[in-house]
Amino acid sequence: MELNQQIERYKDDLVQSVQELVRIRSVQEEALEGMPFGAAVNEALNKALALSREMGFRTVNLDGYIGYAEYGEGEDYVGVLGHLDVVPEGDGWLYPPYAAEIHDGKIYGRGTMDDKAPIVAALFGLKALKDLQLPLKHRVRVIFGTNEESGCQEMEHYLAHEKVPISGFTPDAEYPIIYAEKGITFLDLVKELGRGDEGEVVIKSIKGGQRANMVPDYCEAAILAKDPAQVSQIVEDFAGTTGYPIWAESQDNTVFIKTKGVSAHGSLPHLGKNAIMQMFQCLEKLPLGNGETAKFIAFLNNYVGMETDGKSFGVGLEDKESGKLSFNVGIISLENNEVRLTLNLRYPVTYRLEDMLDLLYQRLEGTGIGVELSLHQKPLYFPVDHPLIKSLQKVYTEQTGQEATLLAIGGGTYAKEMPNIVAFGPILPGEEDLDHQANEYIEIEHLLLNAKIYAHAIYELAK
Ligand SMILES: [Zn+2]
Repeated sequence: MELNQQIERYKDDLVQSVQELVRIRSVQEEALEGMPFGAAVNEALNKALALSREMGFRTVNLDGYIGYAEYGEGEDYVGVLGHLDVVPEGDGWLYPPYAAEIHDGKIYGRGTMDDKAPIVAALFGLKALKDLQLPLKHRVRVIFGTNEESGCQEMEHYLAHEKVPISGFTPDAEYPIIYAEKGITFLDLVKELGRGDEGEVVIKSIKGGQRANMVPDYCEAAILAKDPAQVSQIVEDFAGTTGYPIWAESQDNTVFIKTKGVSAHGSLPHLGKNAIMQMFQCLEKLPLGNGETAKFIAFLNNYVGMETDGKSFGVGLEDKESGKLSFNVGIISLENNEVRLTLNLRYPVTYRLEDMLDLLYQRLEGTGIGVELSLHQKPLYFPVDHPLIKSLQKVYTEQTGQEATLLAIGGGTYAKEMPNIVAFGPILPGEEDLDHQANEYIEIEHLLLNAKIYAHAIYELAK
């Protein structure tokens, strides 16, 4: 195939371009004038745009927020959206994380797979179309995002200044094709606890969890007790019957109850064990009386417990496209007579936010528990027979010989930030996923395969 032969000719240039970008430690830093995400991210953006110009593409830099390489003519354009920023390297590297060394046919370094090599692969894919002078009906843009790892603020800037693509993809997730991504919400349940009628023990504070989108693996509570030994005994009995790692430590008349759970991503809460909910179940065994704190704890135990699909809470939405709603209790903070519980709920793709919120409010009616929504991302969903999905499936199967199954996920990919695009690669089924971990790498053969797949995909969408 002509396009693939053309890509093979670029092999050395492609590898070298990836290396040059990986050698820039493009972690978000303090903003400088004209560099909203810091000097290093700006350097990576300028580097990518310079590479694009060397290849003969028009380039645009949108005030240092984001830039793109453009090719072709026509009213509308096809977009390929990737990002040049990276997360910090962390520890445990076999090779230096910003040297882009090659070992055993792999380029090692932070940002190789996520997401520098894939976006450079798409750029060389576009170069192949240009060098072969294949006729295209639409313009094509390879868009270089710069803030994907820290909030996607660059996309607001892009969408405020540019029109959206008619179709496209982001090479920032996995193959084959992610056609459905659930709606994502972060919301706080908030309640003033007042004094109420306190029991023999008083909960002074509860702390647990660090991020809404993680299953908390630790929670601790401080309890004032007239009889600390009694509290310790209840905790010990509870640990015995449930098998939870939960224990008590006394200091004078304060008992600290501590429990460990198992962490997991907030989109897959059933894979973890929720330390906050373990704590709630234990606390209900204590003689709390029936004040507001006791009521709040009983409410959560009755309607959530160890469930992760929101069924008892009454928000158990489900569809055949993306499965069940996921319900994660992520963070708790109880102190100074106020409790705040941060939830991460992800609803199936064929529903709307209001569908879920209506059910949520119904459950909370009369409880005095308030709701504060702090984040919402709408679902992403393309019907299985959508032309974009069909085109990418055809290309994937032709280039890999594999069936292009469609994936539905609870996570949010970069595709959610731009209308009319889906996540397509770069990680192949069965390939190790080291995004955000030590020893991130991309195999040079896979880099070339990505360039071929992306070249064909761009052609299919733009021809
Ligand atoms: Zn990424």
